[in-house]
Amino acid sequence: MRLILLGPPGAGKGTQAQHIQEKYEIPTISTGEMLRQAAHDGSDLGLQAKQIMASGRLVSDDIIIKLVQERIQKKDCERGFLLDGFPRTVTQAIALTNSSIVIDYVIAMHAPDTIILERLSGRWIHAPSGRVYHEKTKPPVKRGVDDITGEPLVQRDDDKESTVRKRLEVYRVQTEPVIDYYKNLKGIIFVEIETTGTAQEISQQIDKIIGKVQWV
Ligand code: AMP
Repeated sequence: MRLILLGPPGAGKGTQAQHIQEKYEIPTISTGEMLRQAAHDGSDLGLQAKQIMASGRLVSDDIIIKLVQERIQKKDCERGFLLDGFPRTVTQAIALTNSSIVIDYVIAMHAPDTIILERLSGRWIHAPSGRVYHEKTKPPVKRGVDDITGEPLVQRDDDKESTVRKRLEVYRVQTEPVIDYYKNLKGIIFVEIETTGTAQEISQQIDKIIGKVQWV
C-alpha cells in the first residue's frame, strides 16, 4: 500500500501517520521529520532547511524530490509506505507521478484554521520517533516526557502562532492545488475527510477507507 496524506499543518497528518504505520506496518516518510533530523545533525542541507522552516516557507522542490526518491528506494519501502508532508507543490506531485512510483491512495485531510491554531499551540513531540502529543487532547502519562522511552518532549520552533499563520498561507497558495491535481488524476483512490473529530474517530474513518483492501 502506497499512500499520501495531504492537508494543512495541524490537520492531524502526523498523528494519523503514526496510527497507519503501526497498524499496517509500513514506514512513514515525513519530509518535515527528515529535514528536522538533517538540521539536528548539522548537515549542509539541514542548515539551509533550518532557516527556511523557521520562516514557514518551503524548501526547494529539487532538494525535496531527490530526498524522497532516495528514501523510497530503501528496502523497508518494498511493502509500501506513507508520505506525510510530500508532495507540497504541484511540481513535486508531477515529479512523483513521472517517476516509476505508483500511489494507491491519497487522503486529503481538512480542518478549520481555529482548530489548527489550537492544535499546534498545544503540540509536543518526541523528536526521535515523531510521536505526537497534545497537552489537552492527548497528554503524555507524565508531563513533558515520552510514554514509551521516557525521553523529553519538545515543541517545534515553527509551531509559534506567527509562523503557523505563514505556514497556512503557504499551504493555501502552494499545497491546496495539489488536492485538485490528485482529484483529477486517474488510477488512484482519492478521498477527502474532515478532521474536526478526535484522533480515534479519524483513525476509524481512515481504516474504513484502507482497511478492507488487499495489499502486498
Ligand atoms: P512539516 O513537519 O511537514 O510541517 O514540515 C515542516 C517544514 O519543513 C515545512 O514548513 C517546510 O519548510 C519544510 N518541508 C517539509 N516538507 C516539505 C516539502 N515537501 N516541500 C518543501 N518543504 C517542505
